[in-house]
Amino acid sequence: MSVIRIHDKEFVKTIPAEEIAAQVKRVADNINRDYAGKRPLLLGVLNGCFMFMSDLMKNLELECEVSFVKLSSYQGSETTGTVTEVIGLSESIEGRDVIIVEDIVDTGLTMHKMLEVLAESNPASLAIASLFLKPARLRVSVDVKYSAFEIPDRFIVGYGLDYDGLGRNLPDVYDVKE
Ligand code: 5GP
Repeated sequence: MSVIRIHDKEFVKTIPAEEIAAQVKRVADNINRDYAGKRPLLLGVLNGCFMFMSDLMKNLELECEVSFVKLSSYQGSETTGTVTEVIGLSESIEGRDVIIVEDIVDTGLTMHKMLEVLAESNPASLAIASLFLKPARLRVSVDVKYSAFEIPDRFIVGYGLDYDGLGRNLPDVYDVKE
């Protein structure tokens, strides 16, 4: 069993790099099939998506483009609650087939808001590809069309995901040790 320490916590290796590569390939194959004849725009949500995006794109055989955004949350009025702002979207997505590429969908609140914001720009279609999905944690209904892994309610790091800034460089995925 491979155990590492990041800041104050110990983590146990749960998903080796080879297994990640196989599942990312499976997601890419599904996108190749579903978007045949189209030219999707893959829209990555930084920072967590960068490794997933890189490996996903290397497995895409169709014409595709890539762009990245960051999200920032701030407290709006009482009626709007938390507002998610999508920062850095430089091109028009009107009429485009957009695939949002995310590291992990947990409560689903971030993706729910992002879908709302992007839909205002009238894309031809909007889909989510998330590396990880925690079904037990979902608090809003959000359609994750492509997910590489469904995982239990545990905090993970590695392959782009961090714990307080560290761990993104790990090629494997680790679960926090209870
Ligand atoms: P949601 O809005 O779906 O609750 O939150 C999604 C975001 O929470 C992800 O993009 C990620 O930044 C963070 N997150 C949720 N679960 C985990 C986890 O297990 N590990 C890490 N490193 N980040 C997580």
